[in-house]
Amino acid sequence: MSRARTILVIGGGAAGNAVTILLRRAGLAVDLIEARDDWNATAGSGITLQGNALRVLRELGVWEQVEASGFGFGSVGITAPDGTVLHVQDDLRTGGDDLPATVGMQRPRLQRILIEAVRASGAVVRLGTTADIVDQDADGVSVRFDDGSEGRYDLVIAADGLGSATRAAIGIADRPEPTGMAIWRIAAPRPAGLTRTDLAYGGPAYIAGYCPTSDSTLYAYVVEAHRDRAAIPAGSHADEMRRLASAYGGFWPEITEHITDPAQVNYTWFERLLVEGSWHRGRVVLIGDAAHCCPPTLAQGAALSLEDAWVLAQSLTGSDTWDDALFQAYYERRIARVRPVVEASVQLGQWQLDGVRDADVPGLMARTMTMLRELP
Ligand SMILES: Cc1cc2nc3c(=O)[nH]c(=O)nc-3n(C[C@H](O)[C@H](O)[C@H](O)COP(=O)(O)OP(=O)(O)OC[C@H]3O[C@@H](n4cnc5c(N)ncnc54)[C@H](O)[C@@H]3O)c2cc1C
Repeated sequence: MSRARTILVIGGGAAGNAVTILLRRAGLAVDLIEARDDWNATAGSGITLQGNALRVLRELGVWEQVEASGFGFGSVGITAPDGTVLHVQDDLRTGGDDLPATVGMQRPRLQRILIEAVRASGAVVRLGTTADIVDQDADGVSVRFDDGSEGRYDLVIAADGLGSATRAAIGIADRPEPTGMAIWRIAAPRPAGLTRTDLAYGGPAYIAGYCPTSDSTLYAYVVEAHRDRAAIPAGSHADEMRRLASAYGGFWPEITEHITDPAQVNYTWFERLLVEGSWHRGRVVLIGDAAHCCPPTLAQGAALSLEDAWVLAQSLTGSDTWDDALFQAYYERRIARVRPVVEASVQLGQWQLDGVRDADVPGLMARTMTMLRELP
């Protein structure tokens, strides 16, 4: 009988956790290493999960927990800066009609659900661990862990995010590029009556928005032109976000009352990355933000990362031969779907940066989301 194939997954974010769960289910031996000791179990404010993300979460077997922990809704409001609702648009159910269009979730809650599923899968998990690729040949990859120990795997999956050290180590030179925008985010209590995302365009920021993440919580965000991060003292983050947020009406005054602790306010630049040509070198293959990333104007980054995990797991478990042709087919299948989402996400922000007033925002959004309804 042939030896069971072994896989090293580098990075325990949405992509790495998802691919681990799916490969373990198929009986493959998976080691997952994660650089952070805490596995990011408490990090972040909220996340908007579109139907196509929910479809993968259902495939992972965690949909019931996601549904019970998050806040499902089916429309988005467009408001004036003073809070007047100008338009309410039904969201497309990109995961199919049996899933909500959108679920808002606390990011730490989603991460903990995925962590529990990885643990239950029987994968070997090593936290606070990184690895260097030492060598690879047609049969596998040799790695050295940061404690000096070594390992040999049939395949390494690089799910180590936007700044992927593994991507650089295998000679893929692409780096994320700033798009010119930045976002202030905070988690806060959910005001009664706030039951969907509303987006205000105009005012002192490009976008002010929020998303309910549970019966009692939401996350709120304000998007502006990016600034020199070094020139924004960490201690001023709450003041900076409150200054922008206080210009907005509707539910914003209630939300703004909670923008007080600078340690709870996150400031992040929007970035773009799309590795073209192939996402593998030999037997090291990229998934998730390590291969592509888009600004969250369509809230699709984690959704695409989860889809990568699903498609790669299907490819690996559906073939006895793990070779260039298989990894190239995985890339071709994903790039046709990922490229238009990255381009649309960047375009939506660029129109705002350029002050284009007659841009076909609804048309671009509708075309992109309609495409995402197809199975990945
Ligand atoms: C402001 C903002 C808002 C967003 N909002 C949304 C949204 O609403 N909806 C949505 O779908 N997407 C959203 N995204 C995108 C989403 O967060 C990412 O696409 C998603 O987290 C990518 O998952 P990943 O697993 O590929 O990478 P990550 O989540 O970055 O995970 C990578 C993991 O690898 C670990 N790691 C890094 N280096 C190493 C190493 N050398 N060795 C071992 N481990 C390592 C990290 O600690 C981390 O745990 C948003 C992104 C931003 C910036």
